[in-house]
Amino acid sequence: MVSLLGKSTGRVSALARGARKSVRRFGGGLGLGATGEACLRERPGAELMSLESFDVSDARLAFGADLACTAHAAYALELCERLCAPRQVEPEIFVWLEEFLALLGSRGATVQRLRAFELGLLRRLGLGLSIEVCVACGRPAREMGDDSSRWQPERGGLVCRACARSGLILTADVRRTLLRFLEVALDAADAQELTRDQNAGCRQMLLEAISLHLTSPLKSLEFINKMGGTP
Ligand SMILES: [Zn+2]
Repeated sequence: MVSLLGKSTGRVSALARGARKSVRRFGGGLGLGATGEACLRERPGAELMSLESFDVSDARLAFGADLACTAHAAYALELCERLCAPRQVEPEIFVWLEEFLALLGSRGATVQRLRAFELGLLRRLGLGLSIEVCVACGRPAREMGDDSSRWQPERGGLVCRACARSGLILTADVRRTLLRFLEVALDAADAQELTRDQNAGCRQMLLEAISLHLTSPLKSLEFINKMGGTP
């Protein structure tokens, strides 16, 4: 069984019979993050489609040799798989993921690009978060003190401390970093400065926001944590 994100189909699950054997139909191209032209067929009365063939344009073979690339690719793909509704056509998300995978292949993995990917993905999914104003009272975050805003993604993002009694504290530094990465293009993200603390803060806020939409933990993150890494 394979999970595909199609530009014109959205996310679909499909059976790929003989995928391991048939070089003619699949070209050996059903690996992690492979891109190509898929020929799908509906199966009467079944939810799963049938993958008839897959004409590979990029098999992403470079990922296999690089653990960080593999981890970032697995994470980005799992995010799309878990957050995109089935069969909902979302060409913007396809393009965003495709660009992310292409940059991984050509330039390797960077945490800056991963943060930009997460923020851009949430926004494209319609799950964007308020970072500049309190979602409850509208007070601008720039008027708040360094540690006087909180993060409550279940309410839509940033909440000032007068409006929230609980939630992670969002420091001004992490807030400004999130804003910066929300606006940066994927191919320009690598050049952005990102300290270890800023990355850890952003990562925590983003995971909190992402996990709201998941019913079980991300497998790719468990794998990364087992390796002792923090992407
Ligand atoms: Zn408020």
